[in-house]
Amino acid sequence: MAGEFEGPAIGIDLGTTYSCVAVWRDDRLQIIPNDQGNRVTPSYVAFNETERLIGDAAKNVVALNPTNTVFDAKRLIGRRFSDPFVQKDLMLWPFKVVSGRNDKPMIVVTYKGKEREFAAEEISSMVLIKMKEIAEAYLGCKVKNAVITVPAYFNDSQRRATRDAGIISGLNVLRIIVEPTAAAIAYSLDQKSSSEKIVLIFDLGGGTFDVSLLTMADSIVKVKSVAGDTHLGGEDFDNRMLNHFVEEFKRKHKKDIRDNSRALRRLRTACERAKRNLSFMTHTTIGIDCLYDAIDFDSKITRAKFEELNMDLFEECIGHVQKCLKDAEMDKKSIQDVVLVGGSTRIPKVQQLLQNFFDGKDLCKNIHPDEAVASGAAVQAASLTGQGTIKIRDLVLWDVTPLSLGVEINEDEMYVVVPKNTTVPTKKSRGVTTTYDNQTRVTFQVCEGERPRTSDNILLGNFTLSGIPPAPRCVPDISICFEIDSNGILTVSAEDKKTGNTNSITISNIKGMLSEDEIERMLEEAERLKLEDEEHKKKFEAKNSLEDYVYETRSMTRKLASKSSANDAEKLEDEIKSAIGWLNEHKDAQTHEFDNKRKELSIMWDPIITKLKAHD
Ligand code: AMP
Repeated sequence: MAGEFEGPAIGIDLGTTYSCVAVWRDDRLQIIPNDQGNRVTPSYVAFNETERLIGDAAKNVVALNPTNTVFDAKRLIGRRFSDPFVQKDLMLWPFKVVSGRNDKPMIVVTYKGKEREFAAEEISSMVLIKMKEIAEAYLGCKVKNAVITVPAYFNDSQRRATRDAGIISGLNVLRIIVEPTAAAIAYSLDQKSSSEKIVLIFDLGGGTFDVSLLTMADSIVKVKSVAGDTHLGGEDFDNRMLNHFVEEFKRKHKKDIRDNSRALRRLRTACERAKRNLSFMTHTTIGIDCLYDAIDFDSKITRAKFEELNMDLFEECIGHVQKCLKDAEMDKKSIQDVVLVGGSTRIPKVQQLLQNFFDGKDLCKNIHPDEAVASGAAVQAASLTGQGTIKIRDLVLWDVTPLSLGVEINEDEMYVVVPKNTTVPTKKSRGVTTTYDNQTRVTFQVCEGERPRTSDNILLGNFTLSGIPPAPRCVPDISICFEIDSNGILTVSAEDKKTGNTNSITISNIKGMLSEDEIERMLEEAERLKLEDEEHKKKFEAKNSLEDYVYETRSMTRKLASKSSANDAEKLEDEIKSAIGWLNEHKDAQTHEFDNKRKELSIMWDPIITKLKAHD
């Protein structure tokens, strides 16, 4: 990849609740602020009668337009509708999700008066487009290349789906890297010593939790093991508090607010704010006017109560740390630094439990919990495009597979080809054979997971090797090969050693994944929506400019009326009235109509305005 300069390459942390974009420029790492001046942007997309909003603008309208404001796409991406986690989340989301083709969850919104369905990849692509635009505005040039991060514990479908989201957004995805590894890169930048260090990255974000054990020396970052849960994070803590207050409201007022998505959304927002406060205060209050049936809701919560509501989840996090150490066959005493990443690591109880687990060791808070992942991704993006310092250009990442990969043999038996925590990129082959006499075709079910029975693991897809010459069972010699690229994405192939026949699994075969045609269609749709957004913005600006001109002229005419010719002022007053009438009747006019009207009025009014001003 390194070589020709192709413009700045960015790093994007595509988070469940917030996203962040960074770039390596002018010999330093820069976190790129958005148009509101914020260094993180909500991963929210809102649809309404006239436009699509992304980021802060979308999050700001969530309480007003809850059913059409989409968030948490990362909790859906690469999953099936029937997935128990998706089913559980559905209860808490104010927007509608239905089962689409191949059990794919589809988000339903009303946009410009029409019902529309979007895949999670499309919603994520909209957030990515926003991050790309933020970078382009800051850098003053087009941006094409990006490194995007995913949780270490994302499985193959979730990684592929995230890469697809990148493609739909029009980005060239240089690489998908995992969040704790990206954070480790950011951490390594600050390290003066080049001797090997063993580090544990504890990454607790809005929707996912990753723990990762790495060694680092010079420019080499090597992951030893990962553990975590793609469905554990700050939003679960919010939900616990939400449930607590929903029950309290029920007790106090005998009413269940769950049937009102707007009330639920307002309460959830208040809970998230309260949770953040409790990281710095020992108690806080919640106050929402007219929450439900014109009833105001005021309540209190202590840090201790919040901790009690979430203790099992916090302890689960520590359980994953233990598992990660065990998988790497390392003792906790060998860890030199425990690095905190992700907004939820600000919770004091989480820090305390972690510190206790490491026998009182100080936790490393040197890197910014919200920005470290995007920073690491930007460094990797610079490295892949041959930019940055020597240390950056020489950066080498050795990641691992988070889950075991294999095929089904016999009835429901998982035959592991690539054990979990294998360093990637990797290529591993295993010999398999037929199960009955004269079998001429073998269908391979490719699975991911740790359970001995394939039915308990995730089915990634299947493919068939045919044309095997008839022979007694167990005689054909078939080699099955699993290849994982540096994005952590898998290709599986099989070869009949006797005939040389081969077959491999293709991405589009995977149930629930997007086919190339679908990606192409979504790419076109994304482009169309972007043009519509731009057109809407232009129209809005044209309308605003016309309104400003009319109302400014009116106030000036009124101010100058006494000093000028009554005739001119009256004439202008009448014309202004008629222009206001035109504006009221043409609320939905096109950009060129507003522009033309503005020009037409200027031609008529500007000479009169000049005359009036001359009298002043
Ligand atoms: P991230 O995905 O890393 O951006 O983390 C976002 C999550 O961190 C959200 O669930 C936030 O509510 C949570 N968060 C941010 N600041 C705090 C805080 N001060 N205390 C507790 N949680 C926080």
